[in-house]
This record gives sequence, structure tokens and C-alpha cells, in this order.
Amino acid sequence: MKKIIIAIDGHSSTGKSTFAKAIAKVMDYTYLDSGALYRAVTLYALDHGWISPEGKPNAQAIVDHLKDIRLTFVKDPQTGQNRTYVNGKDVEERIRSMEVSAHVSPVSEIPLVRDFVDFQLRKRGEKKGIVMDGRDIGTAVFPRAELKIFMTAPAEIRADRRLRELKAKGMEATFAQVLANVRQRDYVDSHRETHPLVKAPDALLLDNGSMSVEEQLDWFKKIMEEKWGIRLK
Ligand code: C5P
Repeated sequence: MKKIIIAIDGHSSTGKSTFAKAIAKVMDYTYLDSGALYRAVTLYALDHGWISPEGKPNAQAIVDHLKDIRLTFVKDPQTGQNRTYVNGKDVEERIRSMEVSAHVSPVSEIPLVRDFVDFQLRKRGEKKGIVMDGRDIGTAVFPRAELKIFMTAPAEIRADRRLRELKAKGMEATFAQVLANVRQRDYVDSHRETHPLVKAPDALLLDNGSMSVEEQLDWFKKIMEEKWGIRLK
């Protein structure tokens, strides 16, 4: 069967990565989390003091040093999931922290940061057979992706899911903090000038507010069968 690109975009904490990983598994495709690259650049900027205490990134310093950031993904043999590395160091846990979540949207607004990340994403998607999730995959990174899905759900449900995830990892946060962060990221992501978060006209809408992962996977399998004649197990 001809390999395709599956682009999944949507609001923060809509379970894009859980859904994308499940799809990648049934399709036997590679999964790539584009947000991890923006998070890694943000962590690098935080570690170098290029984000002010008020949260304003020093765009010039970040852009000047993009060439020094080597991003790689290494499969964890125990979980089978990719872990993000910056210059050979495993940063997977650190890029998921609330501190990085709080600063990533302004960093990802910087046009040259987007070009840097886009280049890496396109390189990894060249051979197709990939499921990629993010905010602009179907609109800017792979506008000709064969299948585009746009995910959304009410902000409170998303914040609740994210809080559970953080707590499961032993990270401290309150519901109010997480909800504020989810709303703030939605706003910045949807209003930035370069590649804002917007549903591509040809993307299929998946509102998963009251759907389990199983139900979302069934929805996907149905589409594959109806659209592509592919029956997945
Ligand atoms: O997907 P995740 O929530 O980890 O992404 C973190 C942030 O990275 C988003 O809030 C958004 O600001 C940025 N991002 C983006 N474009 C993408 C993926 C993520 O701007 N394709």
C-alpha cells in the first residue's frame, strides 16, 4: 500500500499525541511530535537565559544560536516511544514541564524558529509513512498531506486531562494554572502572524471531548475504510 502523510493539528492538550501514536501503531507508521521540537528550542533558550523573567524571549539571541541546537529522537527500548535529545542530552522530562509549557508559545511565534523546526520536520517526513501532530502540520509543514485531522475539545476537559498527566509524572500544578496555560496557548497559537493554528479547509474535524481513545481509533478506522478502502485491525 502507498504510504501517506497523516497531519494532525489542533488545540493544546486535545490528546493529539495519544491519538497520533495509536494511529501510527495500527498503520505501522512513524510518529513525530512537532511540539517536542518547539519545546526543546524553548528549553535551550531558558537554560541560556534568553527568556526574560516576564516571559519575553530574546528572539535575536535564540535565532543566532539555532545552528548550535542539534535535535534528535531516540527510541526508548522499554516503552517503544521516542525521547527528545538536545545536543546528545535526554531532555524528554524537562521539555514537558510547566515552565517550558508557559514559555513555548512566544518562542514558537518567532518566524526563524518556525523555519528551523519546519526544515527538521520536512526532512523527517520525506519518505512518508508518518503521523505528525502539531499546530500547522496540515496548513504549513505538509499542506499536501493526504489525510488531515483537526482536533478540539472544551478547554476544561483538556485542562483536566493535562493535569492528570502532570500529576502522574509527579509534577506539581493546580487545575486553575493548567486551564490558564491551555487558554493562553490557544490564544497565542491562533493569533500569531506566522502559521497560526487554524483548521485547514480539507481537514476532518474530530471533537473528542466525550470520546475515549478507543472511540477515536474506531472513528479513524472507519475513515480509512470509507476513504481509502483500507481495513485496519
Ligand atoms: O503540542 P505541544 O503542546 O507539545 O506544543 C507546544 C507548543 O509548541 C504549542 O503550544 C505551540 O505554541 C507550539 N507548536 C507550534 N506548532 C506546532 C507544534 C507546536 O507552534 N506544529
